[in-house]
Amino acid sequence: MVLKAFTDYANGASMKTVVDMLNMAGIHTKASPKLTLNSVERMLHNRRYIGEYKFRDVVIPNGIPAIVPEELFYRVQDRMEAVKKAPAKLKAEDEYLLTTKLFCGKCKCFMTGESGTSHTGDVHRYYKCVSARKHECDKKTVHKKWIEDLVINEIKGLLFNDELIAKLTDLVMEKQSAENVLLPAMRKTLEETEKAIGNLLNAIQMGIITESTKDRLTQLEQQKKEIELSITKEEIAHPTVTKEQIRFVFEKLRKLDLTKLEHRRKLIDIFVNSIYLYDDKILLTFNYKDGTKTIVLTDSEEISGEGSDLSASGAPSKKPLLSTTAKEVSLLFLTAAYNSYQK
Ligand SMILES: [Zn+2]
Repeated sequence: MVLKAFTDYANGASMKTVVDMLNMAGIHTKASPKLTLNSVERMLHNRRYIGEYKFRDVVIPNGIPAIVPEELFYRVQDRMEAVKKAPAKLKAEDEYLLTTKLFCGKCKCFMTGESGTSHTGDVHRYYKCVSARKHECDKKTVHKKWIEDLVINEIKGLLFNDELIAKLTDLVMEKQSAENVLLPAMRKTLEETEKAIGNLLNAIQMGIITESTKDRLTQLEQQKKEIELSITKEEIAHPTVTKEQIRFVFEKLRKLDLTKLEHRRKLIDIFVNSIYLYDDKILLTFNYKDGTKTIVLTDSEEISGEGSDLSASGAPSKKPLLSTTAKEVSLLFLTAAYNSYQK
C-alpha cells in the first residue's frame, strides 16, 4: 500500500486521492483511525521507506529494508515541491486538461497551454506546439475550449455506445484473468496440501503414527501457511474486479456532469491515450486496443477558429494515417474509478 501511495502520487494523483485510497484500504496510524492530508504528506516524505535508518544524528543508508525505490521517492519529492510552489488554486479554465496527451501532427512535439489577453481585456486560452514556441514549427495554435470539447464529445459517443461498452467490459475481464495466472495455480496447490493434511490426519486417527508421519504433518502445515500468505499477497497485488463492478463504473461515468472540470478530467484520464493534431484532421487514440479514430476536419472547419460545429466531426477514415500503439484498457484506471465511487 505504501508503494502504491508513492506510485499513484508520482503518476499525478492528488494528495486527497491518495488519502482516500489508503483510508478505503483501512490503513491507519497508531494515533488515529483515519489518515489525513498531513499524515499522508508526512508519510511521502519519510526516508525510512527508502531504507534509511536514523537514530538521533546517525543516518545509516540501507539500514532497514526499503519499500520504495529511490528514483520513485525523489519523483514524489519533486512533485510535492512543485505543487507547493504552484499558485494556490488554478481557476478551472486555466487547467489544460490535454497537456501530455496532445501532440502536434507536424513535428510530433507536445502541445501545451498558453493564454493571452486581447486589447479588449478578454483572456484567450489555447494549446501551442512546443517547437512552434521556438519558431521551429509552423503549426497554428488551437483554442483550448474547442479541442477539449471535441475530445469530451468523442468520449461521450464512446460511453453511450452499448456494444462498445460490452466489448470493453469483456476486454477488462480478459486482461484481468491474463494478469492473474498465478492465483489459480496457487489455489490448486493449497487445495492439494489441505487434502494431504486430511489424509495424514485420517491415518493418525486410524492409529498409523510414526515419527515420519508427524514430521510430514508439521511440514505440510508449514507449507499450507506459506501458500496462504502468498495467495493473500497476490490478491492484494492484483485485486479482482467483477463484471458487475465494471458495468457499474461505466454507468457512473455516463452520469458525469460534463460541464464540471473534475468530471472532464476524469474522463480524459481514463479514456484518452493521445491526440495528434494536424491541420486537416485529428488522430485520437483511446486507451484500448484498436481504439484509434481519425476525425477529418472539413474545409469549413477552421481549426483554430472559435465556435466550430462539433457535430460535423464524425467521418472516421478506414485506415488511420498514423499508427499509434494503443494501450489496452487500463485496468488500473477502471479500478481506481470504481474505488472512487464507493462510499
Ligand atoms: Zn509542431
